[in-house]
Amino acid sequence: MTQLSPLYEGKAKIIYATADPEILLAEFKDEATAFNAQKRGAIQNKGVMNCAIASHLFRYLAAQGIPNHFIAQVAPNQMHIRRVEIIPLEVVVRNRAAGSLCRQTGLPLGLELNPPLVEFYLKNDALGDPLLTGDRLRLLQIATDEEVAQITQMALAVNTHLSRFFAECGITLVDFKLEFGRSQRGEILLADEISPDSCRLWNQEETDPEKRILDKDRFRQDLGAIEEAYALVMQRVLAHSIP
Ligand code: UDP
Repeated sequence: MTQLSPLYEGKAKIIYATADPEILLAEFKDEATAFNAQKRGAIQNKGVMNCAIASHLFRYLAAQGIPNHFIAQVAPNQMHIRRVEIIPLEVVVRNRAAGSLCRQTGLPLGLELNPPLVEFYLKNDALGDPLLTGDRLRLLQIATDEEVAQITQMALAVNTHLSRFFAECGITLVDFKLEFGRSQRGEILLADEISPDSCRLWNQEETDPEKRILDKDRFRQDLGAIEEAYALVMQRVLAHSIP
């Protein structure tokens, strides 16, 4: 399929139009940002690794009945996706306390959260992606109450499937961020990406709190061996079969 002009360039991906108006091409970049793009760098081969990981996870979730925008991986760092209107929310699911939850509440790192926590953040870099309350979500009219209920249910279902998937890879899914979109037909689809950029993943074979980190926290905290961590996630994810 012919690739047309870039429609949008984000921090980790470039989105191109294709000859089919319903299909877009997502190209994954090696560039990495953290702390609302105040920290910038590159993680060698990240584009290829995240594209492979996300493609596999989207295929797995589709097989589990979670509708998502993935169509096909068309190059090592490119996938075709269904065009959706992105809902400007970052939906975070947490199984253990980490990151901003620890910073803002004082809960100890790694504390198990049962049931898992679902949080909505406004996807707006200029405002620093603030955490929303239910009332603020309603006030902003970003999504209807029905859509919010459906997104929450989908996020929890994704968590159930991915937690099991990663556990079978010897990895703990600590927390992750999802984005959703509306298809042309008004259907809510899981969108964006699922990768070590958007998930906290801990290697169950390591007890050392730094060595066990297999995700972008290695970049955020300058822990080194970032490429090796992403490669290990990719190798274990791709080795996990899809039913
Ligand atoms: N996350 C993300 N993009 C963001 C913010 C968070 O992918 O813009 C992911 C992050 O990698 C983690 C989860 O969402 O897996 C929860 O992040 P948290 O709120 O703890 O923020 P952080 O500590 O990264 O500032």
